[in-house]
Amino acid sequence: MQKHLASHLHYDFRIEHNGVLLSWAVPKGPSLDPGARRLAMHVEDHPREYGDFEGVIPSGYGAGVVMLWDRGTWTPEVDDVDAALARGDLKMTLDGYKLKGSWVLVRTKGGWGGTPADGRAWLLIKHRDEWSSPELDVLAFAPLSVASGGDFADILSEDDPDVWRSNRPALSGESGALFARIVEQAMAMKAETGRTAARKARARKAPTRKAPAPKAAKKATKKR
Ligand code: MN
Repeated sequence: MQKHLASHLHYDFRIEHNGVLLSWAVPKGPSLDPGARRLAMHVEDHPREYGDFEGVIPSGYGAGVVMLWDRGTWTPEVDDVDAALARGDLKMTLDGYKLKGSWVLVRTKGGWGGTPADGRAWLLIKHRDEWSSPELDVLAFAPLSVASGGDFADILSEDDPDVWRSNRPALSGESGALFARIVEQAMAMKAETGRTAARKARARKAPTRKAPAPKAAKKATKKR
């Protein structure tokens, strides 16, 4: 499950099947409440290697920042996954860091909440079990990356963030503003990291260079 700040902040649920990642975009993210039905828009399959991706999509479709919000394994609770997908009812067990236990993806008959009735609207629902909770908001409780422990700004402010290339439209509106704020935050963090690194580098260099001449070192220290 990736947390994706793009044209809208959303979560991407992906499960590996037949060598690709079957993918659903979940606008409100998953809920541990068995009474909550979260819209999950079926989107195009993604390459397997995308499943571990965390970093930046610089332009085009999905441009923004991707956080690896959860990862783990899934086990279908049915014998025939393809038949279950065709039927529009896939029960599964998740074993991630954050999401565990029994879940189901159910395709809606019509659309859902104004989405077109084109068969892309599914619902992601937690089954009642030891991992379900009507109270715990797992999104707020565990908002950070399972890969880096960081938030969006941390991912952006990395010296060399991973970059994923793709090809279609970009950021505007509310998410665009949020994105701009996060970029600003990331740049500030980066600048601070740069200053700290420069200070550390000076601190490391100083004694080595001056060790053979302690007097000179003393003078140099006084000057500062
Ligand atoms: Mn996405």
